[in-house]
Amino acid sequence: METIKTVYYEKRAQVLMKNLRSRRFDAWYCETREDALRQALSLIPEGASVGWGGCASAEEIGLVDAVRKGNYHPIDRDTADSPEEKTKIMKKTLLADVFLTGTNALSLDGELVNIDGTGNRVAAIVYGPESVIVIAGMNKVCATLEDAVTRARTVAAPMNAQRFPVQTPCKVTGTCADCKSPDCICNQILITRNCKPAGRIKVILVGEDLGF
Ligand code: SF4
Repeated sequence: METIKTVYYEKRAQVLMKNLRSRRFDAWYCETREDALRQALSLIPEGASVGWGGCASAEEIGLVDAVRKGNYHPIDRDTADSPEEKTKIMKKTLLADVFLTGTNALSLDGELVNIDGTGNRVAAIVYGPESVIVIAGMNKVCATLEDAVTRARTVAAPMNAQRFPVQTPCKVTGTCADCKSPDCICNQILITRNCKPAGRIKVILVGEDLGF
């Protein structure tokens, strides 16, 4: 039986998809993470080079594992033996056929908000990879762009900081202090208003809570 949350997410997703498409994003709604995985894989040609970044949601639906095990060319920075090699792999990701990522927040009006420390993830969203697949749990959807920026800065970033060996106020308190720390993970804030070329960014909305 459908839960109230399922019904709510589905209705909200219909509005959001219409707005995303009006901005020339491709968009799908998948009720479950299993459906989202199938949809994402259908968008990746066999033999494609595939990179990723900031993709807790893609990991949670099993997409990163499927790419590692499938008939693709993964560009995987976790295989690096040194920081220098890791940087090289991250730069190579900018020329991948396909880039997998999440989004820190979306407005119901169809704008994506992403925050980045190094900048490699937002760079790939902006330009480089031929195709960008965004996996977004419906928990990321906010009423307005202002709310989406607030979510990215005060929820997503402080949660994300818990994953890294950083010395930032949010790592200690769980609350953003608008820091200027050398370890700050919020050096770049990207708002993607429209998709150009049309269809380059493919947003797969998932009727579950995913990521941060
Ligand atoms: S305290 Fe600094 S690193 Fe943490 S969320 Fe705020 S700006 Fe980002």
